[in-house]
Amino acid sequence: MLDDFKETQFIAYKMITNSIKKNKISHAYLIETNGYSKKMDFALAFAKYLLCPTHQSNHGNCHDCTLCHRIDTNNFTELKIINPDGLWIKKEQLEQLQQEFSKKSIESEQKVYIINGAEKLNISAANSILKFLEEPEPNIVAILLTDNIYQLLETIISRCQIVSLKKQNSLEVKFDANIKKDMVFKIAIQEATTEEELINMISDESYRMNVEAAVNFANSYEIRKKDVLVDTNKLWHSIFKDKQQIMFGLDIMILYYKDILNKKMDRKLEIFDEYSEKIADLSKKNTISQICKKIQILLKTKENIKYNANINLLIDRMVIDLEE
Ligand SMILES: [Zn+2]
Repeated sequence: MLDDFKETQFIAYKMITNSIKKNKISHAYLIETNGYSKKMDFALAFAKYLLCPTHQSNHGNCHDCTLCHRIDTNNFTELKIINPDGLWIKKEQLEQLQQEFSKKSIESEQKVYIINGAEKLNISAANSILKFLEEPEPNIVAILLTDNIYQLLETIISRCQIVSLKKQNSLEVKFDANIKKDMVFKIAIQEATTEEELINMISDESYRMNVEAAVNFANSYEIRKKDVLVDTNKLWHSIFKDKQQIMFGLDIMILYYKDILNKKMDRKLEIFDEYSEKIADLSKKNTISQICKKIQILLKTKENIKYNANINLLIDRMVIDLEE
């Protein structure tokens, strides 16, 4: 049940339960999963909350009624779950869903569909889901799950209420609030797998310098655009030398652009509070599409690094792609 997530996913939990309590259920929710391992459990708990009458009247607890049990065993006709078929979610899968949902419901007023891996909607499937979202039917709620919101059409994003899940990390508990606010800590906690590793990262001065260097590169690029290529040796290659370091630098840039997007969408910055002024400035200079496009290019460059020998060239290529 949704209450199981009250502590671990407090913000998402509050957002959802408030909207239901105030009777302001949105017709579509886009859940940014951020690598959270229990994402599907969360989505199912949410679906139960919407579908099971006892759930809502009894503060999210129905003590396992038959309806909820059927949801657990994927046996409830008014809940449909769509998973990628191979690499993509295809148009036919959505057509089938629309067809089934157009029948009069026998069991429940409310219908819910979950799209797991919404970034894998192929173009025609994305367009058909868009039609669904543009003309919402009163009793249908869509729950879209995505690991990579930046691959979704902006038109889809803008029609959904966005709910962000927190990546779970048990290491975090042991540190005090002041340390947890530090940008380097917030980055290291996402990478470290043991406490020892985490402590090494946050106490290593060169780790902080590399974070700053990557942010500096993004800022220089935003000011000088293609001209930054003249200085890639100084600003990038002399700092991020091997594949692993380059991946790290790109990760930092991705997180930085995510915060620019957060600012643009009036959300709280996740990591780079230290750069809040600069981020405010850059959020004004970029459209949402431009920021998403840049994040995609950074992700693609990261992917290419794995297979490419000439990594220096790839970074130059990236700067050129960012410009286009
Ligand atoms: Zn129930």
